[in-house]
Amino acid sequence: MSVLVLIDHDRGAVSDVARQAVTLGRSVAAAVGVPLRAVVIGPEPVAVDGVESVWHVTHPLLDDYAPGGWGEALAQLVSRESPTAVVAPGTDRGNEVLAHSAARLDLPMAANVTQVETGGDVWALQRVRWGGSLLERADLEAPIRLISAAPHAFAPAGIGGSAPVEEFTPDLDESHVIDRVVERVTIQEGTTLATARVVVSGGRGVGSAEGFAPLEELAALLDGAVGCSRVATNNGWRPHSDQVGQTGTRVAPDVYIACGISGAIQHWVGMMASKHVIAINTDPEAPMVTKADYAVIGDVAEVVPAIVAEIRRRRSA
Ligand SMILES: Cc1cc2nc3c(=O)[nH]c(=O)nc-3n(C[C@H](O)[C@H](O)[C@H](O)COP(=O)(O)OP(=O)(O)OC[C@H]3O[C@@H](n4cnc5c(N)ncnc54)[C@H](O)[C@@H]3O)c2cc1C
Repeated sequence: MSVLVLIDHDRGAVSDVARQAVTLGRSVAAAVGVPLRAVVIGPEPVAVDGVESVWHVTHPLLDDYAPGGWGEALAQLVSRESPTAVVAPGTDRGNEVLAHSAARLDLPMAANVTQVETGGDVWALQRVRWGGSLLERADLEAPIRLISAAPHAFAPAGIGGSAPVEEFTPDLDESHVIDRVVERVTIQEGTTLATARVVVSGGRGVGSAEGFAPLEELAALLDGAVGCSRVATNNGWRPHSDQVGQTGTRVAPDVYIACGISGAIQHWVGMMASKHVIAINTDPEAPMVTKADYAVIGDVAEVVPAIVAEIRRRRSA
């Protein structure tokens, strides 16, 4: 028996949350009296401090991140090792990989856990839900407990130990790696969505990808960045990297201009730290309008170009 801890890394660079997950894994392993073993997936092993051994999982199809492939590989290792628990970091990757493994193993998974009380068949957990706005007490009963560690709930463990490394080669084919990293692009330098002092954000009310042109213009004039709601990303109008909210980027600019965004809670949690909110919306009852510091009731397609024209007029005066 053992506890496994999945090490989230990007080509060998271990995330802080993965090191925090090692700390949780260590306390769970100590509580149930079994060794802690790390699982490192990818071409190169990563040295991890404070574990009994490292499973190094390699396969030609796992030369870069592939959530389904990592999930299948972890599931195969779990089937072989029958651990008491598997702890993953509560990062996008950690949760994604563990969810794939859980589905393949037909096991429940508890994400973003902040406390674990072992003992008996039922483990009592505390975990973060709803974008950090709720702490939940949950009971987890399963032959193998799959848990991800909430970010920043545990002190990070060290990296660089000399634990023995054992090799594991899963049985994979192309069907397991439908999603995988095939290209890496350099992140835009200068003003980014997360750091911009002004964010001009668009939602369903913008109407189309082309409808974002005036928002781009306004953002450029204000040295800001363009954001969007999930409807805009779901419709393919903007990339996911522009999405603000629970499942997107969290922003805290001086000014957040919400154009045609209703203000659903999942969007609001991503921008509620903004110092000033301006809503542009046709609906005076929209939550974004009622919560905003200032609101313009009108059509985005008319109001935003009018603001752009006024800024240009004043700057040239
Ligand atoms: C688990 C989960 C996670 C989620 N995560 C996110 C997230 O990270 N980010 C996110 O944004 N959403 C997220 N959502 C989706 C969220 O619940 C809402 O569905 C979404 O935010 C709505 O986007 P919207 O405001 O653009 O669209 P809508 O809610 O449809 O609102 C459109 C608004 O535009 C206004 N409007 C329409 N036409 C015009 C016009 N011509 N001019 C001006 N105004 C106009 C309308 O009055 C309305 O207020 C999540 C949902 C779930 C279940």
